[in-house]
Amino acid sequence: MSFYCGVDIGGTGVKLALINEEERILRTDSFSTSSGLGPDFFVDALSKAIVRLTKESKASCQLTAIGIGCTGPIDTDSGLILNPYTLPGLEGMNILDEIQSRLQLPAYLENDANTAHLGEIALYDKGIVPGNTALMTFGTGVGCSIRIDKKIFRTIGGIHPEIGHTSAGVNSDITCYCGKNNCMENVLSGTAINRDAQRLFNQTPEKVLDNPDNTEKKTFREHLIAALTNSITTIVGIFNSEQVFIAGGMKNLFAKYLIPETQQRLDKLLPVFGGTKIILTEGNLYSGSLGAALLAKIRYQEIHDAPLS
Ligand SMILES: [Zn+2]
Repeated sequence: MSFYCGVDIGGTGVKLALINEEERILRTDSFSTSSGLGPDFFVDALSKAIVRLTKESKASCQLTAIGIGCTGPIDTDSGLILNPYTLPGLEGMNILDEIQSRLQLPAYLENDANTAHLGEIALYDKGIVPGNTALMTFGTGVGCSIRIDKKIFRTIGGIHPEIGHTSAGVNSDITCYCGKNNCMENVLSGTAINRDAQRLFNQTPEKVLDNPDNTEKKTFREHLIAALTNSITTIVGIFNSEQVFIAGGMKNLFAKYLIPETQQRLDKLLPVFGGTKIILTEGNLYSGSLGAALLAKIRYQEIHDAPLS
C-alpha cells in the first residue's frame, strides 16, 4: 500500500494532507509558516509535522513520496524558493534538498496554484470536469494555473507561466512590483482592491461595492468587472479553458459583486469565449495539500511505473 503526503506552503500557514492509493484523505494537519524565523526553523517544523502525520494515521504508514505546493516564484526543478514577497526569510532555500535529506524520501515541488487546481478537480466529480480548465487565485497576489488535456501546462523549459502579471486591460496609477501598472495582480489582487478602496474612498471594498452611489464608485466597480472579464477572456482565448475556477481569499467578494455580471458579459461574447463557465472553488481548506499529495502520486508513478524502452 502506498501513501503520499501533500504540503501546501502559503504566506501565513502550512497545511498537510495524507492520502492513500485510492486518493482518500486519511489525516490533515497545519502549522503557522513563520517564515521570518528562517529556513532551519521552518524545515524542522515541516519535517516533524510530516512524521507526526504518518505516525498518527490509523495505517501508521510508510510514506512513498511527498508533494509540495508553494507560493511562487519557485524553481520547481531545483527546489529553490525565490519569493521574498510572501515568504520573507525563506528565499534562496532549497526545500527539496532539505526535505529529501531529512526524511530520505522522494519529494516534488510545484507552484501552489497548480496544486490547488489538481486538488479542486479531485473534489469535483471527475467525470464532469472537462479536460481544459483554468484556476485563478485572488489573494495577496494573483496566481493562475492552466490545465490542458488533463495535464498542467508549463511554458518552454518547464516554467510556470506568470499570467498574473499579464494585462488586465485596466490601468492603475500605481505601479506593480513587476514594473507594470495594468497587470492582473495590480488591479484584481486582494492587496490592490483593498489598497484602491482605501486610498480612493477611505472605505472597505465591500462598502464601496454595496452602494456605488457616485461616478467614482461606479467607475471603481466597472474597472474591476472589466478587468476580470478581460483577464478571463485572455486566458480562454489562448488556452480554450471550458471552466475557470476562482479561488483565494477574495473569492467571496468576487462571488457577490463581480462574477454574476462578468459571467453575463462572457455569455454575450463569441463562442470562443462565451461557452466558458466561471466556477467558485469548493473552499476546502485542504484542497491545496490534497493537490500536492496527488502531485506526489502522479510524479512518483511517472518515474517508477514508466515502461522500459
Ligand atoms: Zn505585476
